[in-house]
Amino acid sequence: MKVLVTGGAGYVGSHLVELLKLSNFTIHILDDLSTGHLWACQDCPLIQVDLTNRAAVLSILAEGKYDAVFHFAAKSIVSESATNPSIYYNTNVIGSINLLDAMINAGTRNLIFSSTAAVYGTPITNENIDEQHPTNPINTYGRSKLMIEQIIKDYCDAYQLNSIVFRYFNAAGASPSGKIGELHSPETHLIPNILKSIRNESPLSVFGDDYNTHDGTCIRDYIHVVDLAFAHKLALQFLKKNPGFNAFNLGTETGSSVMQVINVCEKLLVVKAEIRIADRRPGDPERLVATNQKACSQLNWRPSNSSLETIINSAWRWEKLLKETKMRKSDHFQ
Ligand code: UDP
Repeated sequence: MKVLVTGGAGYVGSHLVELLKLSNFTIHILDDLSTGHLWACQDCPLIQVDLTNRAAVLSILAEGKYDAVFHFAAKSIVSESATNPSIYYNTNVIGSINLLDAMINAGTRNLIFSSTAAVYGTPITNENIDEQHPTNPINTYGRSKLMIEQIIKDYCDAYQLNSIVFRYFNAAGASPSGKIGELHSPETHLIPNILKSIRNESPLSVFGDDYNTHDGTCIRDYIHVVDLAFAHKLALQFLKKNPGFNAFNLGTETGSSVMQVINVCEKLLVVKAEIRIADRRPGDPERLVATNQKACSQLNWRPSNSSLETIINSAWRWEKLLKETKMRKSDHFQ
């Protein structure tokens, strides 16, 4: 099977590429390397193109004759989406429309799209969220992802596209291979920032301790990036029997507060993190935890690597490797 992975040099995309490489897939990566890394491409052919280059995208899809496309390429920093919505709507929405048009034009009918729990906005319930929960994003990033979901659905209805959209909760952790993991600049995510604090690189700001939760800090559903990758592979099998459009949450159904995550890191690494309580971060919902029944029952998926311990141990191994190899400074690490 021949597949195109847009954003395959990025965090979640590169973990899917690593998984698919274990099976008999021909994999091409399309990535502009604006936030992805050359070393994450893992010897797969890289087509370095920006999705907003419509002519290039049309010709890549026409020539590639792919059986399926995994679409990860996107801008994904919530705070940046508020200050620079133009790149979010251009890259995420217009870039995706170019990709979809190119797929239809080329006769490629299977799409797996990387979406986000941010499409739900602030939950209207304290319960875990299922796919029927109203979508009402509260930031530009979430709005851009919801727009694409809606466009994909319309393309499924009109052009016989088959698609799964995955709404990720909090992607975290790194591959057990030690070859790939999370490396963002700037780093905004909780677990890498805790690990940086443990390394004395910078103290951790805890964004708010006055939420209405058991310890006052926000609750999230952390899901191992390897479990996310597995869901994408299962999605291909699902699409063969279930054409049309489907949305799935990918989470664990377990909520952990910011303080709980810090405590598990400290316990596992036997070190104290330096913490400062800071103001709430705009747009952070109090509690965001998935119901994953649909993915478990329909895809036969299990988030089996997603205990906090497994996530943090893998993230820590990756952090140490980054430090040792100075990968941060060189994008040509292999
Ligand atoms: N968070 C924090 N300090 C940080 C990064 C994150 O307190 O340096 C909190 C953030 O406010 C949220 C949770 O950790 O409540 C998870 O944030 P992250 O950015 O990892 O993911 P998000 O839920 O925003 O997608």
